[in-house]
Amino acid sequence: MTNPSQYPLMVVGTVAIDSVETPFGKRDRVFGGSASYFSYAASFFSPVELIAVVGEDFPAEYRKILEERPIGLEHLTVCPGKTFYWKGKYESDLNTAHTLDTQLNVLLEFKPKLQANREPEYLFLANIDPTLQLEVLNQVKRPKCKFVACDTMNFWIEGKPGELAKVLKRVDMVVVNDGEARLLAKEANLIKAGRKIQNLGPGTVIIKKGEHGALLFHEERFFSLPAYPLEDVFDPTGAGDTFAGGVMGYLTKTGDLDFDHFKQALAHGAIVASFTVENFGLDRLRTLRNSEIEERLNHFKELCHF
Ligand code: AMP
Repeated sequence: MTNPSQYPLMVVGTVAIDSVETPFGKRDRVFGGSASYFSYAASFFSPVELIAVVGEDFPAEYRKILEERPIGLEHLTVCPGKTFYWKGKYESDLNTAHTLDTQLNVLLEFKPKLQANREPEYLFLANIDPTLQLEVLNQVKRPKCKFVACDTMNFWIEGKPGELAKVLKRVDMVVVNDGEARLLAKEANLIKAGRKIQNLGPGTVIIKKGEHGALLFHEERFFSLPAYPLEDVFDPTGAGDTFAGGVMGYLTKTGDLDFDHFKQALAHGAIVASFTVENFGLDRLRTLRNSEIEERLNHFKELCHF
């Protein structure tokens, strides 16, 4: 059991039940959620505290999966009602998820509460209702909390643009995928979109491009990283969240926020995400060892160097 003071990183997001269809198969009511994937990935680099809500239908065995790692679960609250549910489908190129169903359920009543004296140094507002992201932001004390980042998706960009704009003004970094970046910036070109998003608030912007890698905009500087090339991609669900988990976990571990560390963080995020997509849900990460991450990072370095 990790001591509460040992959680330098905190995530607020969804813990969900997902139904997912990929060209390789279909899984019904599996364990998912932005905060679940994020925390599992981040825990390879730093202990992480998870703030989320589930319903009474949330299976005990899913909670046990999170207990496998140094993840603080004291604030994984159970509320009357049903757990957040998401149903998605991927086309053959596996790059775009089509949402077939979103049931907010207990999320509608959720009031995230941070305990005084447990504020983190690093905070990630994972994909969740921006109103809840704002509620959490209102409770953290700056500059004690030295770095805040957020994620979002089309569902919220279109559904709650006003609240999202307020969140963006107050975070240091945003992590979005290419489609979300275009939607948020109202700009088709991703370089211009990245710069436009910086103008909405965050000094650092990461745009994930699935199998085409990721872009980093850090103040005036720019970096482009390819994805780790994989022959077999099974299920992309959670790739974005585990990428963010790797990025934030690495930044928390090193405690450094300069450009070079952001570049390294991107590589760590890309490598963790490359493992995630090798199997359904969290299945691959559950057998992952730190030595495998190191090995793949070294191979990635060789592949990118010329
Ligand atoms: P990704 O890493 O982008 O593949 O995120 C996948 C996870 O996002 C799934 O496990 C879903 O439960 C979760 N998710 C889907 N829609 C939403 C939403 N509107 N808000 C928060 N989380 C969501």
